[in-house]
Amino acid sequence: MNVAVIGAGRAGLIAAAGLADFGMRVRCVDIDETKIAALTRGSVPFHEPGLMELLDKNRKADRLHFSTDLAEAVEKCLVLFIAVGTEEVAPGKANLAPLFAVTRGIAKSLREYRVLVIKSTVPVGTAKAVLAELGRLTPIVCDVVSNPEFLREGSAIENFLRPDRVILGGNSEQALAVVRDIYRPLYLIETPIFTTDHETAELIKYATNAYLALKITFINEIANLCDAIGSDVHTVAKALGSDKRIGPKFLHPGPGFGGSCLPKDTRVLVNTGEQYGVNLRTVAAALETNYFQCRDVLNKLKNVLGSLEGRTICVLGLAYKPSTDDVRESRAMDFVGLLLEEGATVQAHDPAANGAAAALLQHERLNFFNDPYEAASGADALAVLTEWNEFRALGPTMLKRAMRGAVLLDVRNVFVPEAIAAAGFLYLGRGRGAKLSVSVPEISNAVASR
Ligand code: NAD
Repeated sequence: MNVAVIGAGRAGLIAAAGLADFGMRVRCVDIDETKIAALTRGSVPFHEPGLMELLDKNRKADRLHFSTDLAEAVEKCLVLFIAVGTEEVAPGKANLAPLFAVTRGIAKSLREYRVLVIKSTVPVGTAKAVLAELGRLTPIVCDVVSNPEFLREGSAIENFLRPDRVILGGNSEQALAVVRDIYRPLYLIETPIFTTDHETAELIKYATNAYLALKITFINEIANLCDAIGSDVHTVAKALGSDKRIGPKFLHPGPGFGGSCLPKDTRVLVNTGEQYGVNLRTVAAALETNYFQCRDVLNKLKNVLGSLEGRTICVLGLAYKPSTDDVRESRAMDFVGLLLEEGATVQAHDPAANGAAAALLQHERLNFFNDPYEAASGADALAVLTEWNEFRALGPTMLKRAMRGAVLLDVRNVFVPEAIAAAGFLYLGRGRGAKLSVSVPEISNAVASR
């Protein structure tokens, strides 16, 4: 079957590669000519493990083509997956202009029945609005299926090829059957496929992300409490997670939830609630609490160092999570911004996201380094904001030797505290208890005597 994926971003490109791997002949269309030219040459515009190989494999098998020609895709493909961006135009308000631009483009080129599949994350009511727009623009009858995407950057290929579930929303049995057929390889691995109406499918995506945001926020607050009580958040999280009603995932403390999806989708859900006269208090509370997590973490550093004016802080990790170069709404970037506001100089390193971070934030007191030890050179304190695996292998003694100061703020709890302390650091973890956090007077003495 010929299918098109419109939008060659993180979601679209993974879908294009994955659908080609399912055996579809895929045309991947984007308005960004530079991106399409690069993809045609074989380069991949962002960091995602395994993506280059999957694209290569399917391109060589002649199942995957890149183009800027939407009309040709509409002519040749029965099914048109739409995966354009839906970033916010205002807090809680998704930008649907790209989606409707694509809808108009499709309508203009339509000659016969087509199935439009909305993969982009869109507010409740959008699929019906797209159908209505098509009805206004063309007499040719088409169907729309809502098929929200749940991939996680860093493991996106695996998530697409072996998803936890597939959601299909719509009211046309014919269209739903066509899309179900595309996902047939997933039947073999017994993937649950939920078929429902448009609104429910759209809501499931937002409810999922809001729930994940709540879970992260909850464990972050428990981590704050663990610091105060002297308990270990990982023991709490393990015990919590072994309760089958709760589950172990997303119970790892950090600087707050970030990325291109969780914050925006949570805000849009709160907004949807308001539109329907429903106050989603827990979701709104998660957003508010999340705002303070980075600031709480910064205060830990200030409690130890005092004013950050004139201090040099090494920040390891800028991407919102490991194995991606995505810095959209990364809390690590927020943390860098807060450090700069406090008058600190920041020496930053990320294994993949230095370029994306530099494009997002330029400042005379912000410098990027390709090597973590160089980033640590002369720093008063080192903060780990993203849990890249390679950071676990860093030598504490070498880091300490490179630095001027001796404070290590492990916001993701990647290090073994005892090993860090043995290297002469004052270790500040996230909810790792009294034994592992060093009390303020001890730290102040150590900083004073450095
Ligand atoms: P992105 O910004 O990386 O990519 C969007 C792409 O759409 C860009 O390449 C852009 O050039 C293209 N585009 C915009 N207008 C177009 C048009 N008129 N015609 C053709 N192409 C056009 O966005 P993304 O991260 O891939 O997200 C896309 C959607 O998928 C969003 O709704 C997002 O919420 C959702 N989603 C993303 C992820 C993720 O991990 N990134 C996961 C699940 C769902």
